[in-house]
Amino acid sequence: MSQSDKQDRRARAAARMGEPPPAPEALPRPVLDSHTHLDIVGGDPAEHIAAARAVGVDRLVQVGVDVTSSRWGVEVAEAHDAVLATVAVHPNEAPRLKDLDGALREIEALAAHPRVRAVGETGLDSFRTGADGRAAQEASFRAHIAIAKRHGKALVIHDRDAHDDVLRVLDEEGPPDRVVMHCFSGDAAFASECVQRGFALSFAGTVTFASAGALREAAAVTPLDSVLVETDAPYLTPMPYRGRPNGSYLIPLTVRGLASAMGKDVDALCDAISANGERIFGSWR
Ligand SMILES: [Zn+2]
Repeated sequence: MSQSDKQDRRARAAARMGEPPPAPEALPRPVLDSHTHLDIVGGDPAEHIAAARAVGVDRLVQVGVDVTSSRWGVEVAEAHDAVLATVAVHPNEAPRLKDLDGALREIEALAAHPRVRAVGETGLDSFRTGADGRAAQEASFRAHIAIAKRHGKALVIHDRDAHDDVLRVLDEEGPPDRVVMHCFSGDAAFASECVQRGFALSFAGTVTFASAGALREAAAVTPLDSVLVETDAPYLTPMPYRGRPNGSYLIPLTVRGLASAMGKDVDALCDAISANGERIFGSWR
C-alpha cells in the first residue's frame, strides 16, 4: 500500500468513525497496550502516549504491517521510552507484494534493532485473502516465524478465520519461545489449545461486545499468566463506543470488561498484564 493510499484510508476512516470518545476512569495499577497502530491512528504519537499514561496505560507496543510502517515504528520506539516496536508484512499485504522476498529481507534487518521486541503481525487471514493469495500468505508466515527465532524475538500472530491452519503452521515450524495471539478471536476450546502451547492471548475491545459470549468464555478459561490486553487502534473500540476511533487511552474499558469475563479483580488483572508484557516483550526502559 502506498503512503497516499494510506492517507486516503485514514481520512475515510476518520470521517466514518467520528469524534474520539472521552477518557474513561483511570486504572488503579499501570498496564500496557500490547498492540496499537499509531501510524494509522494519525496525529502526534506524543499526544496519544500522554493521553494513555493519564489513565494508567504507560507502555505501548507499536505494530508494523509493512516495511514503511515497521521502519516508522522503530523510529517512534527510539524516540519514546513508552513505546516498543514490532516489524512485519501483514498477512493481507504479503500476497499483494511484487517483491515479498525483498520486503522480508528489510523486515529481517529491522528485527535486529534493540527496540524491536517482536516479529508481527503475521499469520493467516482467510477472511480478506482469497484462495489465490493463500500460498504467498502462508510462505510469508513461515518466513516471519523463522525471523523471530533467528533474532530471539516474540511472535505476534494475526489469525482471522484461520485458527486450525495457524496452529498447523506453528506446529510444523516450531514456534519461538514467546507467542502472542493478537486480538484473540477463538472460543474456550481454542483458548485452551493456545494456553497449552504456552501462547499469550491478547484480548481487544471485542471482548466487551454484546455478541461476544464465546470470547468471554475463552477469557474465563485463560489463566492470568497467559493474558494480555490491546486496542488494535484505531479499530475494535470497546463498548460503549464501538465504531468510534480507538486509542490506547481506552484500554481501561477493555481491562474492566475482561476482568469481569475472567472473574478476576481489576488490580490483579492489571498486575498480570504488566508482568506478562514485560516477560514477552522485555523492559520498556
Ligand atoms: Zn493490528
